Amino acid sequence: MKPCIVIVEDEPAITDAIEFVLAAEACRTRVLHCGLPVLDLLAAGEEVDLIVLDIGLPDISGMDLLKRIRERSQVPVILLTARAGEIDRVLGLEIGADDYVVKPFSPRELAARVKAVLRRSGAGAAASSQAAPLEGPSTSPWRLDQGKRQISYCGVLLELSRYEYNLLLVLLQHPGHVYTRDQLMQQAWDEPEASMDRTVDTHIKNIRAKLKSIAPDAEPIVTHRGVGYALALEP
Ligand code: CA
Repeated sequence: MKPCIVIVEDEPAITDAIEFVLAAEACRTRVLHCGLPVLDLLAAGEEVDLIVLDIGLPDISGMDLLKRIRERSQVPVILLTARAGEIDRVLGLEIGADDYVVKPFSPRELAARVKAVLRRSGAGAAASSQAAPLEGPSTSPWRLDQGKRQISYCGVLLELSRYEYNLLLVLLQHPGHVYTRDQLMQQAWDEPEASMDRTVDTHIKNIRAKLKSIAPDAEPIVTHRGVGYALALEP
């Protein structure tokens, strides 16, 4: 069953772009050009797996709408904001957003966030249950099966703890992209603030040890000193 994403945004150019990329990610979409009808959808018990919610709407602020959504539903919500200063991460997360994206954003980036949030909420499992090589050259040593939460490296199935899997998955989805420790924490941990087991460095060290036991000379995870980590691009 394809997950159903409700897009709440009054600018057609943006909703068109989001619909296009999400369709390519095997999601169903439904567009609302103002905010209050979302409450009717939820009240009617319609299937909603995730809401992409713009803060600037004609009838109600997205922030106020999110508060009202949270009075009745824990459906995952990704906020769209016009300026980085419009919302800070803490405020957005306090009122119950699962993530946010600052305009102008790349639709692909938003699609990646949608998938990450769906994965955490469990709704995306059905959409990605088949083992598939990652995008890129077929020489990639990585194979990913999100349905089974399995990652293989050089043909060897990795035995990964929950957070090791989550961390590696984040890195794998954008090879070469440098993630800060905070970004990795936010994306790989279900409740980053509450977790007692949240040392990104320790988990990366454990993952590296497992990879090294398979390919001793390779350095598939690159440390960017003072910043964070990235998956090495294929040679
Ligand atoms: Ca808007």
